[in-house]
Amino acid sequence: MNAPLIIVGAGHAGGRAALTLREEGYGGRLILIGDEAHLPYERPPLSKGLLQGSTDLAQCSLCDSQQLAALGVEHIAANPVSRLEPQHHRLQMADGQWLSYAGLLLATGGRARRLPREQANVFYLRTHDDALVLRNELKPGARLVVVGGGFIGLEVAATARGLGCEVTLLEAGPRLAGRVVPPVISDALLALHREQGVDVRLNVALECIHADAVQLVDGQRLPCDLVVVGIGMQPNIELAAAAGLEVGQGIRVDAQLRTSAADIYAAGDVCEFRLAGLYQRQETWRNAEAQGRLAALNLLGRALAFETIPGFWSDQYAWGLHTVGVMTARMVRRALPDGGLLLFYLDDHHRLQGACGWALGNRAAKDIKLCERLITARIPLDPVSLADPDVSLKPLLRG
Ligand code: FAD
Ligand code: NAP
Repeated sequence: MNAPLIIVGAGHAGGRAALTLREEGYGGRLILIGDEAHLPYERPPLSKGLLQGSTDLAQCSLCDSQQLAALGVEHIAANPVSRLEPQHHRLQMADGQWLSYAGLLLATGGRARRLPREQANVFYLRTHDDALVLRNELKPGARLVVVGGGFIGLEVAATARGLGCEVTLLEAGPRLAGRVVPPVISDALLALHREQGVDVRLNVALECIHADAVQLVDGQRLPCDLVVVGIGMQPNIELAAAAGLEVGQGIRVDAQLRTSAADIYAAGDVCEFRLAGLYQRQETWRNAEAQGRLAALNLLGRALAFETIPGFWSDQYAWGLHTVGVMTARMVRRALPDGGLLLFYLDDHHRLQGACGWALGNRAAKDIKLCERLITARIPLDPVSLADPDVSLKPLLRG
């Protein structure tokens, strides 16, 4: 019997790859191995609906167990792969079992970066189980300190305010989500969170966490009941590194998402690929979706290059942030009637490179979808029209 295709990591990218392999007609043995106890699920609701209590795990899952069984995907749960031997095309799981593979996808994602000391009142958010534990703590009136003003920190702060908690948010840098959004969006985030009653403090250095308070380096003591830490993600590269695969800040792949071993691919948060000559990882839903799918096609021998227009979204209170493309180059700003913004980034030929929308509800999503089409179309655009809220974007597609 031929060796199976194996996917390590039953998260978003891994789950998407398994489903794609079947959609594309792969009829051989297919094994999806995860270290969590659950079916593959999407993580965005963990800091939003699931934390709030309005969404459950089934609604986040990519498929249910009947669908997986009907597709003939063998899902091995709660059994991490502990060893990989690329030269022998085999791997070992924590229960000691060895499996040989004909092709392998590493979609091991990442884990929350942790503070050096574990403490009972300190919580992290990466998995469904983390979200359930945290949800139980976010009681009305609870005093929460959030460490980190990235998306985990901001979304948890928004959800916790909605649940009636008192929230203080500490960001080490000078602005919120500073590495991923333009300054004007950081400012909008800051204004919104303060308006919603979050005590946001920037340029703050944490000294230590006590059982009942957070101590800052400047001597201030912030009494609290619990602390949520969102200070970034660490990619799960150890399995690949120990197996001798090339790694940097992630598992390094070529244009087809192939690692330094010919029959092993990588996808999702853990995958480090070259974009405009530089190695980078993208920690987004969109990337997990696209790379999981492409790696599956390439496991089937399609030899397709990964081409991406990056993008992500975030929901906080009643507001939605949506981005697409690269947010550098010349910026054109459109003020929206609800107080939101659309930002357009143009190259020297006035062609759109990227866009960012911040608006009430899901309003920016539609414009950002149109922006994606404008990026692909490479049509030169008139900055004056882009800045005008009365000019619809759709006709611009006609050039
Ligand atoms: P994961 O989904 O992390 O899956 C990897 C899986 O592999 C995990 O189950 C892991 O436990 C498992 N694994 C690791 N090592 C092994 C091993 N040795 N053996 C077996 N299994 C292993 N992105 C957005 O664009 N918008 C959002 O609003 C958004 N919200 C988010 C909210 C939260 C709380 C989080 C944590 C992330 C959010 N993201 C969002 C990011 C997005 O969810 C991730 O980019 C995406 O989940 C990455 O998918 P992945 O499959 O690469 O990794
Ligand atoms: P993140 O986006 O990297 O943000 C971490 C933030 O914490 C940064 O602003 C960082 O500042 C700050 N920080 C680091 N150390 C600190 C310290 N000791 N004290 C105070 N602030 C500190 O990571 P994250 O928010 O933890 O998110 C983790 C992962 O989940 C990421 O992959 C993220 O993309 C994903 N996620 C995405 C979304 C979304 O896209 N909507 C939502 C939730 C989670 P510096 O940058 O200055 O270091």
